[in-house]
Amino acid sequence: MRPEILFSLFKPVTSLKGVGPRIGNFIETVAGANIVDLCWHLPSGIIDRRYSPKIAEAESGSIATMILNIDRHNKPPNKRMPYKIFCSDDTGKMSLVFFHAHSDYLLKNLPEGETRVVSGKIERFGNELQITHPDHIGTLDELEQLKSVEPVYPLTAGLGLKPLSKAISAALELLPELGEWINPNLVKSKKWPVWHEALKAAHHPDDDDALNPLSSVRCRLAYDELLANQVALALMRRSMRKIKGRVLKGDGGLRKQTETTLSFQLTASQRSSLAEIYTDMETPSRMLRLLQGDVGSGKTIVAFLAMLNAIETGAQAAIMAPTEILARQHFATIEPLAAAVGLEVVLLTGRDKGKKRETYLLALSSGVAKIAIGTHALFQNDVEFHDLGVAVIDEQHRFGVHQRLTLASKGQGVDILVMTATPIPRTLMLTAYGDMDVSRLTEKPAGRKPVETVTIPAERLDEVVGAVGRSMNSGAKIYWVCPLVEESQKIDLAAAEDRFDQLKFIYGDRVGLVHGRMKGKEKDEVMAAFSGGNVEILVATTVIEVGVDVPDATVMVIEHAERFGLAQLHQLRGRIGRSDKASTCLLIYSSPLTQTAHDRLAIMRDSDDGFRIAEEDLRLRGAGELLGTRQSGLPEGRLADLVQHADLLSVARDDASVFLSNDPELQTPRGQQIRTLLYLFNRDAAVLNLRSG
Ligand code: ADP
Ligand code: MG
Repeated sequence: MRPEILFSLFKPVTSLKGVGPRIGNFIETVAGANIVDLCWHLPSGIIDRRYSPKIAEAESGSIATMILNIDRHNKPPNKRMPYKIFCSDDTGKMSLVFFHAHSDYLLKNLPEGETRVVSGKIERFGNELQITHPDHIGTLDELEQLKSVEPVYPLTAGLGLKPLSKAISAALELLPELGEWINPNLVKSKKWPVWHEALKAAHHPDDDDALNPLSSVRCRLAYDELLANQVALALMRRSMRKIKGRVLKGDGGLRKQTETTLSFQLTASQRSSLAEIYTDMETPSRMLRLLQGDVGSGKTIVAFLAMLNAIETGAQAAIMAPTEILARQHFATIEPLAAAVGLEVVLLTGRDKGKKRETYLLALSSGVAKIAIGTHALFQNDVEFHDLGVAVIDEQHRFGVHQRLTLASKGQGVDILVMTATPIPRTLMLTAYGDMDVSRLTEKPAGRKPVETVTIPAERLDEVVGAVGRSMNSGAKIYWVCPLVEESQKIDLAAAEDRFDQLKFIYGDRVGLVHGRMKGKEKDEVMAAFSGGNVEILVATTVIEVGVDVPDATVMVIEHAERFGLAQLHQLRGRIGRSDKASTCLLIYSSPLTQTAHDRLAIMRDSDDGFRIAEEDLRLRGAGELLGTRQSGLPEGRLADLVQHADLLSVARDDASVFLSNDPELQTPRGQQIRTLLYLFNRDAAVLNLRSG
């Protein structure tokens, strides 16, 4: 239950004075529905109203707060002309100008013969100074209040600054004084203010520096959010692990047999990742491990050996891929390896129906088949395993957390290994996958040549077509990628088909086409012809993006490279450079390029390092977009910026983990405050994992 001290913050914004349903709706759009959301709606700018000159010295163009004698109202003869009020002080004269004025209002607030404080932008009109539509009008005793630095907030159409600022002020009045949840040493060393003071200060910035995400006040607030997330993740992870796992420790027989049939030696990082995975599988708690490795780093064989470890104990293993092509690719890789050690593999995709599907299901439920490979078809209710021991999930950012858990529930304490080729920067890693342990494949298999990357303007496409033909004649296989985006699917598909026709016209049957609209069987045929048959140029929409393995492919042409994101370009390029032959990637772009597109292409040309590219991607795009906020379950930061506050994120993670090891049930005084923090950030679910206290 949420502690009482937070009740006032979790009331709807409409409970504030002056916020009716209409304003309430706008506030909900821009900030959120509750008072606490308003508190976190921080200023994006300031208006400095401290400049308070006499008329004679007032500079036009500046924001000023003036003390004026109201001399005379000049009501215009018709509504189209401005309403003018002549004012003065002991140094000169100026006027206030209003269009479509309500004279009642003006006469009441700016009565002739009295002195008033007026704040707004000074303009020069001919020889005369004036303020058009002052922002604020007040009496002399309101001078100090008006002569201040006013915060400016992000707004939405229909919501003006005044009502929003008023609502925020009212919300801040309700701030409770909460106990400190941050490590006192950290608070001291950073000189952070306490929570409610930090929040108030954040809403009263003195100058532009105060708006900087790295200001002390903003850092403190960001840290609160990061700490809440990290504690919540740690608690979730603990409860995941409480579900009893099982001890999977095979005798090594199948693994040894397989390793001898491989045509290569495992790399050092493949070995160390495997050691970590085996250790996890051996312990009675369940494995929740992320295997992160750049494209081409050799994750599949690692996964396969992990699966064999489970199978050696008599259990089954499953591997799930996000697309059918990728599932088939895994099948093509794994099935022969499995057959060599006498294991039956079942491929389960949405395509299989009726009798065939029943046979597969039976093979899995009886335990005859030891390995299941599939798409989300593996989630279906009628899929039952005899004894699932380990589930491998490939390219996991395409699956939701929920799906991850569904597959895990198909066995008792199933060990989970997630593979991702998206090189997630460390900073994001903690937030997105903070609930998992990580193994990393940091090196590529020996003998790989780096891919040479060239950018070419679209005007020179003819040269590319010629060059591709020459490469093909000297034995290269070529991917030719055309973009396909959701919004312009039809046009894009037509463009891909046109390119296919054009290349086919020149190079005949050595050109194939594959795209998402094709039937599964047709796709398989084209892919098979490309990997082993007579197709040497494969024109493709981005369907091949996720992990096709055709080691002899050494050239990749990407049309409209400017339309792809960095991560996507890197994934695509990872399809080549998979052998000891030199590979080339041609990025074709159409001008004019935006600055970001230009930067992206330059990074691709200069770097082949997935981690560096991901860091750059993060910088160029921001965190949410990189992982797809919703899909990744990445909590959207209200106060924390994962790029700017990256350092704080690791501090928060360490703090959370040290704290929880000393006070696992959040019972100590600081533990109690952390509970409050969790509620403050809506992490109620995490608190439910605790013994009450
Ligand atoms: P990814 O990490 O992108 O999934 P794959 O598992 O598809 O990479 O492996 C890419 C290619 O590298 C495959 O052809 C695989 O057989 C090969 N490979 C994997 N490990 C090694 C290694 N240690 N030495 C040489 N080749 C390897
Ligand atoms: Mg792969």
